[in-house]
Amino acid sequence: MNYQETSKILTIYTREFGSMGVIVKGARRAKNKFGASLEPLAHINAILYIKESRELQLLTDAELISSFTKTQQNFDRLFLSLSILELTYIVTRYAERSNEFFDILLEVLYAIESATKSVLILFYYFEAQVIRLLGFKPSLVGCSECSKSIPELAQNDIRHARFDFDRGSFTCTECLSISEGDAAFDLEVFHIWEQLTVLNVKNVMDIGLNRELQSDLDRVMTRYLELHQPEMRTLRAKQMFESIRPE
Ligand SMILES: [Zn+2]
Repeated sequence: MNYQETSKILTIYTREFGSMGVIVKGARRAKNKFGASLEPLAHINAILYIKESRELQLLTDAELISSFTKTQQNFDRLFLSLSILELTYIVTRYAERSNEFFDILLEVLYAIESATKSVLILFYYFEAQVIRLLGFKPSLVGCSECSKSIPELAQNDIRHARFDFDRGSFTCTECLSISEGDAAFDLEVFHIWEQLTVLNVKNVMDIGLNRELQSDLDRVMTRYLELHQPEMRTLRAKQMFESIRPE
């Protein structure tokens, strides 16, 4: 946001200090030295003056590493990247700094920038990683009652399950004694969620996601995140993405 005559206040996410608010003096002068480095998404090397007692720190210089030019020119990529930043802001605002979180955030943003196919899976990958890093990854390898794995259940022609959002586990239709049609989720959703948790970002682009699975994955993961993260609200950029995106 704008501050005083020529300054700006920004929220940045840093490797060394986590999330922080900074003032950039002179950022709105016609001939300022910052260029694209203060735009949303910019990956920068920043020079900061930090005083623990201050709420806002001082950013005096910024060297642009990437402004994600391909992402800026593509609707899907831009809105998903902005959703990822919003999510980062929500979950890191009061959190300790984390190298791993920083690295995953960068990896995902660069993967979106250089992707050759649909980037939606990368958003779910980021959500799965956030859930893992916050420490409430659900138990996804087998049914909470009979412990059968998803492939074992499939062999017995069981393909659906209910998800217990409080306990973070799923239960197959056989254990629930309900018919397949009454269960909320296709088991494939939990299989994909598990893969998104354990795989490296380079391998997730190969996960196939049809429209139905995508909608289920969105429903289960986003709601689960919201339940465990009181700060979490529906992401504005993602709402925009969904309302404008052609079917
Ligand atoms: Zn079961």
